[in-house]
Amino acid sequence: MLSATELLDALLERAHAVSETETVALTAALGRVLAAPQISAITVPPLDNSAMDGYAVRVADVLRAGVRLPVSQRIQAGEVGVALAPGSAARIFTGAPVPPGADAVLMQEDCGTDGVDVVINKLPWSGENIRRAGEDIQAGAQILAAGTRIGAAEMGLAASVGLAELPVLRRLKVACFFTGDELVTPGRALQPGQIYNSNRYTLTGLVNGLGCELIDLGIVPDTLEATETALKGAAGIADVVVTSGGVSVGEADYVKAAVEKLGAVKMWKVAMKPGKPIVYGRVGQADFIGLPGNPVSAFVTFCLFVRPFLLKRMGATRVLYRAFPVQAGFAWKKAGARREFLRAQIQPDGRAAIYRNQSSGVLTSCAWSDGMVDLDVGQTVQPGDWVRFIPLAELLS
Ligand code: AMP
Ligand code: MG
Repeated sequence: MLSATELLDALLERAHAVSETETVALTAALGRVLAAPQISAITVPPLDNSAMDGYAVRVADVLRAGVRLPVSQRIQAGEVGVALAPGSAARIFTGAPVPPGADAVLMQEDCGTDGVDVVINKLPWSGENIRRAGEDIQAGAQILAAGTRIGAAEMGLAASVGLAELPVLRRLKVACFFTGDELVTPGRALQPGQIYNSNRYTLTGLVNGLGCELIDLGIVPDTLEATETALKGAAGIADVVVTSGGVSVGEADYVKAAVEKLGAVKMWKVAMKPGKPIVYGRVGQADFIGLPGNPVSAFVTFCLFVRPFLLKRMGATRVLYRAFPVQAGFAWKKAGARREFLRAQIQPDGRAAIYRNQSSGVLTSCAWSDGMVDLDVGQTVQPGDWVRFIPLAELLS
């Protein structure tokens, strides 16, 4: 039996990043992995500019509150003023360049006006309400490292230095299929003994969420031939094949046998709940990961193991989730023989509650949760104890 940490290490050791790159328009870069560091050619902001709507002044002209100054110019965002004449103020708006000579901006709430002059009701300090040129980015500075996943903020950052396209790694192709004679696709009526193929939606949703190119091969019956055929097809077109079900040691479990026949297999029993055996293998050029069929086990093991594996395979540098200490709002009396990941939700008081039914078949617990409490082997919990909490936000993005 491997610990969850050992399993993750073993998988990450086998995950080799794609190397082919392409250039995409910035608008199409969301979810992609940056192939090369990005350097800014410009300084951001390009000029000292005002953080407020108000009046730009020379501090030396405002030595007491109540000073009256003529308004010598008006500068809007997008315009450039002229040097500020001593003894005058410039009407200025947020984002407009501060004119040479001015060394403070008073917000308009601190000023009065008689229509001609401005009355400064507050003593300014040097640099007040001025956003300095380059305070965000210096020309020549690296703004994004290779291996960064492009999210909304990264897109905006790239845009802020004028990048119209980005070099990215090619998308990882992930094929999925779902084994089980009992499985039915939603839209059809269930016959006795059948259940809906929920893993298809959970797992393809997770794969899509990572920005991989999904190849959804649907339901595969519980025969060696069907499993082999599906596996062969999947491995021929994908970088990674992910499946659910058929990896226990039951008589109708053909996944391991099929991987073994077509390639090489490594089967790990993980000392955790939920989660049964997980199969890793290689078929041709593709990696294979077989997850348990139980819906919660499939969800949790994908989040904890497959996600980091795929991220590393995609070329991302940040692949591990983080856990944070939170106080328990529940008691856990039975010391487990395995590490346990409990579906949990942070309550308004900041404490973690756990779903009432932690069975690996109860998918409602996953939809209800906003994270998992990660309990060590043998750990018991009293309300108020500090426990490790892994937010779903760390696992779903
Ligand atoms: P298995 O790992 O194939 O032995 O399946 C374990 C349990 O998960 C069984 O109760 C299956 O019916 C259920 N199961 C397997 N595959 C799926 C699926 N794709 N969607 C929902 N439940 C499944
Ligand atoms: Mg099965």
